[in-house]
Amino acid sequence: MSSHKTIHVGGEWRSALSGATRDILDPADAKPFAVVAEGGAEDADAAIAAARAAFDQGPWPRTPVAERAALLRRVADLLRRDREELGLLESRDAGKTVEEGRVDIDCVADAFVYFADLVAAEGAGRVVDAGTDTVHSVVVHEPVGVCALITPWNYPLLQASWKIAPALAAGNTFVVKPSEITPMTTVALIGLLVEAGLPTGVANIVTGPGHSVGARFAEHPDVDLVSFTGGLVSGTKVAQAAAVGVKKVALELGGKNPNVVFADACATDEGFDTAVDQALNAAFIHSGQVCSAGSRLIIEESVRERFVAELARRAAKIRLGRGTEDGVECGPLVSEQQRAKTESYVASALEEGAVLVTGGQRPEPSGIRPATGYFYEPTVLDGCHREMRVVREEVFGPVLTVETFRTEDEAVALANDTEYGLAGAVWTADAGRARRVAGRLRHGTVWINDFHPYLPQAEWGGFGKSGVGRELGPAGLAEYRESKHVYQNLDPRPVRWFAG
Ligand code: NAD
Repeated sequence: MSSHKTIHVGGEWRSALSGATRDILDPADAKPFAVVAEGGAEDADAAIAAARAAFDQGPWPRTPVAERAALLRRVADLLRRDREELGLLESRDAGKTVEEGRVDIDCVADAFVYFADLVAAEGAGRVVDAGTDTVHSVVVHEPVGVCALITPWNYPLLQASWKIAPALAAGNTFVVKPSEITPMTTVALIGLLVEAGLPTGVANIVTGPGHSVGARFAEHPDVDLVSFTGGLVSGTKVAQAAAVGVKKVALELGGKNPNVVFADACATDEGFDTAVDQALNAAFIHSGQVCSAGSRLIIEESVRERFVAELARRAAKIRLGRGTEDGVECGPLVSEQQRAKTESYVASALEEGAVLVTGGQRPEPSGIRPATGYFYEPTVLDGCHREMRVVREEVFGPVLTVETFRTEDEAVALANDTEYGLAGAVWTADAGRARRVAGRLRHGTVWINDFHPYLPQAEWGGFGKSGVGRELGPAGLAEYRESKHVYQNLDPRPVRWFAG
């Protein structure tokens, strides 16, 4: 594959039909490190046609489940074989540390294994008791058809795998469009699917922008399902376009995730240290460019001062730099646009009365702060309240806001006071309170005394404007299937409803 042949259609690697290309920048120094095809709507049409033909005429939808599962497991093996190379590529493309890149690849492999195991363990269908021996009734699952998969830049391959693995496990064909700024590892994954023996035309990729390729995917009449992960604004457009054709739609959108800390969680030195450490991780891993980032610290008033001081002290020591350098703990933001957006949120927060405790600027070059690239200091803003934009809207940068509460009811009300509902955490030493609060939080994932872990076996997705549908878990497979009820009358007779 020459460097700009990153469009894969019907088994062939191609350039964009227009010949356009795009430089892919390394966010650590803002310099190009790769060139990809800049596909357009006409490339999207070609990819959809290939996926349609492979679905309607190819073997994949009719391939026995055990064979589909075996292919998915081969893909997982290939991902593990290429872990180092792919981890590095993800680090370079998305600006994360190499260790984060490696962990992402492990999680991608786990997703393929999980969905392989899930379909392989299923029987031939669910027999339904029709209440009579003369009827055999069974519900079976079939693939939806051609799936259009659109993914964001923060976890490029991980988000793609949460769609590609279940889509393939269920017997669909697909077209995928990675984020135009981080397409490299998804292109590489398509190569691994081909190497694993996936039939021609099942997996197609078009690298290119959302407004042309993505929009075409969402509106195209030959697409049966659109699964989108990204921001609320683009997700709404995708849902509107897909509604015209009554396509199935899954949306994984943003979050404004509360991290609720009760004073009793900080009663011991060890408890305090753990809660602070995890609040830091919740907010600043991958420079806060995480849909489930714990960007709202909601803390009991009596421990706020001590907690925020320690949090800020540690945030100021986070080593920023190129993800491939030894000792670097946090990479840059993914783009100049993302940094500018972060800066505007911090500026508006300060105008609205927030108190800057640490950060709030581009780093001054020093031993732990680099000179170039889209870096921004981990930032803690105290004295925040829900009227502030920075508290209501997703920043998607290294910015933590602090709000306080006095009672459990107040804590729950604050945590639920968001139009999103992706994830949230509660920290407390009181098991009863932990269960009560977890039960009242209106978020798709709730962590008790932890932040960020997910399991492929457990559904991931959001309440409210965090999305529609679920990824991972059995529901993450169900998104990619149609249920079909087959009702067989074993003793057919006339019904004589009509007398004549
Ligand atoms: P984005 O919405 O800008 O882009 C996401 C994808 O949609 C990209 O591939 C983009 O090219 C495409 N796109 C843009 N406009 C489109 C259109 N009109 N039609 C079709 N496709 C279009 O989001 P982003 O900035 O890449 O990613 C960050 C967002 O993703 C954040 O809001 C984050 O919370 C969200 N996210 C959510 C989850 C989750 O699991 N809920 C996971 C990761 C990221």
